[in-house]
Amino acid sequence: MSTPTSPSTSAVDTRRYLLERVDEAAVVQLYADGFVDLPLREKVLIYHLYQAAIAGRDIYYDQRYAHNLEMRDLLEEILTHAAGIDAETFAEIERYTKLFWINSGPYNNLTARKFLLKCTPAAFVAAAAQAARNGARIPADVERLAPYFFDPDVDPIVTHKTPGSGKDILQASANNLYSGVTMADLEGFTERYPLNSRLVKRDGQLVEEVYRVGGLYDRQIREIVGHLHAAIPFATEPMAHALRALIRFYETGETVDRIAYDIAWVQDRDSPVDTINGFVEVYMDARGMKGAWEALVYYVNPQKTAGIRKLAAAAQWFEDRMPWAPEYRKQGVRGVSANAIDVVIETGDSGPVTPIGINLPNDQTIREQHGSKSVSLSNANQAYDKSTLPEFRREFAWSAEEADRAEKWSSVASEITTDMHEVIGHGSGRISERLQGSPQTVLKEQYSALEESRADLVALYFVPDPKLVELGLIDEADHDDIVRAEYESYARNALVQLRRIREGSQIEEDHMRNRQMIVGWLIANSNAIEVRRRDNKTYYVVVDVKAFQHGVGRLLAEVQRIKAEGDYDAAKALFETYGVHFDPALRDEVVERVDRLKMPSYTGFVQPRLEAVRDAAGEIADVRISYPLDLTTQMLEYSRKR
Ligand SMILES: [Zn+2]
Repeated sequence: MSTPTSPSTSAVDTRRYLLERVDEAAVVQLYADGFVDLPLREKVLIYHLYQAAIAGRDIYYDQRYAHNLEMRDLLEEILTHAAGIDAETFAEIERYTKLFWINSGPYNNLTARKFLLKCTPAAFVAAAAQAARNGARIPADVERLAPYFFDPDVDPIVTHKTPGSGKDILQASANNLYSGVTMADLEGFTERYPLNSRLVKRDGQLVEEVYRVGGLYDRQIREIVGHLHAAIPFATEPMAHALRALIRFYETGETVDRIAYDIAWVQDRDSPVDTINGFVEVYMDARGMKGAWEALVYYVNPQKTAGIRKLAAAAQWFEDRMPWAPEYRKQGVRGVSANAIDVVIETGDSGPVTPIGINLPNDQTIREQHGSKSVSLSNANQAYDKSTLPEFRREFAWSAEEADRAEKWSSVASEITTDMHEVIGHGSGRISERLQGSPQTVLKEQYSALEESRADLVALYFVPDPKLVELGLIDEADHDDIVRAEYESYARNALVQLRRIREGSQIEEDHMRNRQMIVGWLIANSNAIEVRRRDNKTYYVVVDVKAFQHGVGRLLAEVQRIKAEGDYDAAKALFETYGVHFDPALRDEVVERVDRLKMPSYTGFVQPRLEAVRDAAGEIADVRISYPLDLTTQMLEYSRKR
């Protein structure tokens, strides 16, 4: 199937997408339109998995910050017992709580920095006291929590990978994946549960608190397991096999069971419904080892999937033409499975702020032996696009033509490059036989940003290739415009993304580092992008599309070499030079421009809501989907406070 090239196909969709703005965050409703047409068996399956997703939500809150759950509970108790609270104080608590929900705690999802409650501590304590009089459960010593809400110097950054020389990355990070542990403590210590444990220093000894039944998060994990058991009878056999393996891993916590689960999950390629539920992505850990809990439940979008499958089927064709040294080219590329999906719920590390594409498992050995599964989140992409106002694109475009191109093509271009990133990007390439250990271990805190760069570069390198026309993914007549629109939007983004880091002059988040590095490198090492000024505004202008692609190819060859050889020093130098530091004056200019337009920096999604309709015997006769259109309603419902 050809990717629809008319961006106005769904212009009749007049539903509400953008629900509200909370400071620099947009709140957007996510729709799962295909759900109502699924067979009952799949609806019931999704319903149980949806409950499993909600059951684990607090695990992620606790991993992200040790005080998170206590803080959230206090905020929600105040919000739900509001009578008589000073109106101005209440409005500020409400603003802060919404940001807290969107970011799963007091740290901005993108900048990793703490945001503050802006009333006085005295006003906050008075509000809590009033809520208590209204029947709220408020701790007697509520003042104790004040520093977590008000003090910018208490636990300022959730994940700090570059705290400066002499400082420890674990000590500098406020997350709850470690307690009292430094990198020096870890020398000579081998973790038995590297992905799924909290590491604690107790009486001078390192102790692994394992996330499993009977271990840390026992209560939540038991509840997840209960819902997974309920789901199994409604799953296809390959999916049931994977769910049983997941339960086993939740029960034992052993790496051997995690591997068995990863293999079972990746081998389930054709089920119409799937879930990701567990300790998965390692971005929150400054070491890049500990998995943050997340859950997604989704069904396949058949129309869009047909397009992606064509890309996946051609994976070897692309691999054979990668612009890197032939010794790093993989032979017999297989197992690249790709689906366009609609998510029904995302919690933990993937909600309310959602990724737009996912490729798993992360275990490099399993990827090489069994392949990986990629998904592109169609309905999340659609909701992003529907909630973006056109003036935001125009502000950073150098010419009217560029703005028009963005208007017309950027969503098509971004969909196809996101697919390429996931389907032929992450799955590609071979590791050198000289490399001892995995690239993650050797490249440490540089790994994630490097791997994201590699996948982005693969997409940028091949997007102009006539192969995409041959595969029917792009119409030949539109191809040049789509390529130019993609390169322009990629370059603009390096400028526009600076709006997300309002303090300091460093980028922490890996995807942001990667995009900054690529554009910074191209500006310095190719003739593809010019930095221009007009009316005191800065523009990144793509002046040569061929030079852009050529530059991307050269950089990709080097990035692949760094990964394959585990060249830590080269990775560090690349990101330190182009990806981490930026000019704060430029950032201030960008912030001023976006603030004038009230452009959001990131988006939190309100998810669909499911409800089981039971028959007289108590069996589920139908599953109803609805859209809350309100963040507060959904969050309080998840916390069982509404
Ligand atoms: Zn990626």
